[in-house]
Amino acid sequence: MNHTTVVTLAQALINCPSITPHDAGCQALLMQRLQAVGFTVEPLNFGDTSNFWAWHGSGSPCFTFAGHTDVVPPGPLAAWRYPPFSAQIADGLLYGRGAADMKGAVAAMVIAAERFVTEHPEHSGRLALLITSDEEGEATDGTRRVVETLLQRGERIDYCLVGEPSSESQLGDVIKIGRRGSLSATVTIQGIQGHVAYPHLVDNPLHRTLPALQALLAMEWDQGTAQFPATSLQITDIQAGSGVDNVTPSQLRLHLNWRYSPQLITPQIQQRVTTLLDDYQLPYTIRWRLSGEPFITPRGTLLEAVVAAVQHCTGLTPEQSTAGGTSDGRFIAPMGAQVVELGVSNATIHQANESVSIAELTLLCQLYQQLMRSLLNDSDRISGYPSA
Ligand SMILES: [Zn+2]
Repeated sequence: MNHTTVVTLAQALINCPSITPHDAGCQALLMQRLQAVGFTVEPLNFGDTSNFWAWHGSGSPCFTFAGHTDVVPPGPLAAWRYPPFSAQIADGLLYGRGAADMKGAVAAMVIAAERFVTEHPEHSGRLALLITSDEEGEATDGTRRVVETLLQRGERIDYCLVGEPSSESQLGDVIKIGRRGSLSATVTIQGIQGHVAYPHLVDNPLHRTLPALQALLAMEWDQGTAQFPATSLQITDIQAGSGVDNVTPSQLRLHLNWRYSPQLITPQIQQRVTTLLDDYQLPYTIRWRLSGEPFITPRGTLLEAVVAAVQHCTGLTPEQSTAGGTSDGRFIAPMGAQVVELGVSNATIHQANESVSIAELTLLCQLYQQLMRSLLNDSDRISGYPSA
């Protein structure tokens, strides 16, 4: 096997300065390669965001690799040992913004898919890739829109491997089998502004809100599960007042964020908050923003195939985690898909001098190939691996 190909492709991707939502030419490189080995490739661009959906074969199951070509900004350049888009290799590491999150994994998916369809042109089911250039930003026109398009056409994804950097100290030590939900609220509480020396003429929203806030923070939302920690609420901002000593504020604005498990459904959180604000008789308005519902992929065909492939290629039994922020898995899981995230080590993501180990990249490519053999080619199942 030519081990340099995946590194060369990862370098070509890092050379494109694709800061969210810009793709900067990454997807053209990927689409060209996939087309050359027989994939049907469909760009699905919305607004500033570039996406594509590519597939090979037909029928079920549909196994999809999901990934993103966009990266977060590099930050101050002086902090970088090598320029962030120069893709330098030193001491077995490939450096650059996006090396670990997640151009390395995108290169590994595409090279693994090329090799798999070349070895197994008549594989069972459908092999697909869903690639977006807006994962790190608002993600409005990215995976969410592609999924909407697929649903409108009646296309489905059975199994989805998201290439986010799930590993901690070495490739395959941790996989993600779900993610917590993320819900935000902006609450505005009205008051009556006035002179502090005339308290009978004012209605201070700070005084009215603080007891309600104490009660909100004391609330137990749930107790967590074996897979999820207990739901947490964080106050992320409070604004009121004009910074002077003799005027009371006319209104207070509060920003809240919940990270929650599938034990709670979103309306339950909303209901409990509005009930509490009503109990305290606060004159409020509230605006909700749902970033993603929580999801969990239970034990099943995909999870078993991923665990078996990790064991086969690395000798490790991966920890099954739901930690961390949201990922694009939040848009794919509601299609009814089983979703697992497996990618390289995440120690340097979003940092200066982001890097990926070349050994991990090469092994990840083999791991992805093994997964396709398990899911799309019966004769290549790992022995002992239970059939679907
Ligand atoms: Zn990422």
